[in-house]
Amino acid sequence: MAAAKPAATNTAYKPEGVSGIHRARSRYTIRLWSVRNARLLEWFYARFADTLLGLHWFWQAVGYKRAERPVKAVEKFTKSILFDCRMCGQCALSSTGMSCPMNCPKSLRNGPCGGVRDNGNCEVEPDMPCVWVQAWRGSQRMKTGDKILNVQKPVDNSLRNTSSWLRVTAQAAADRDKAGTGA
Ligand code: SF4
Repeated sequence: MAAAKPAATNTAYKPEGVSGIHRARSRYTIRLWSVRNARLLEWFYARFADTLLGLHWFWQAVGYKRAERPVKAVEKFTKSILFDCRMCGQCALSSTGMSCPMNCPKSLRNGPCGGVRDNGNCEVEPDMPCVWVQAWRGSQRMKTGDKILNVQKPVDNSLRNTSSWLRVTAQAAADRDKAGTGA
């Protein structure tokens, strides 16, 4: 028989939230708006990504490295408001119904854990809608919602706090050049 788990020591320190990523409810509200409007944001992002790619010559002229600081600041500001973004540097929003998987307390990148509550909320953060329940709902609204079935690679922590926008742009430019379709 397994030994009984010792009771937690009762001390004067009581953590304010149950996890380090506890969020005020107002944050969920905007996050949920983004999921509800996943189709609109998908449409907008496709055009935005094209614009960034069209400016590849500019990023090259300035230097991607030098462009990173200001671009990253704008990216962080915008995505923090809309998605409660954690700047993991390997954005999966287009594949996860515009619901950021880095808001999952377990940082799950490929679907929910087994602890989703009956009301669709998270087992760790009872007030928070499960990130993956929302991801499924958002993906159902998107044209390319099937991308939620793609397996996401584990998070590469060396990319934290870097710009996904620039990374995706540089990759798209390299792919375009390789295919010989560059402008
Ligand atoms: S219930 Fe959802 S958000 Fe909470 S830990 Fe599990 S997968 Fe993550």
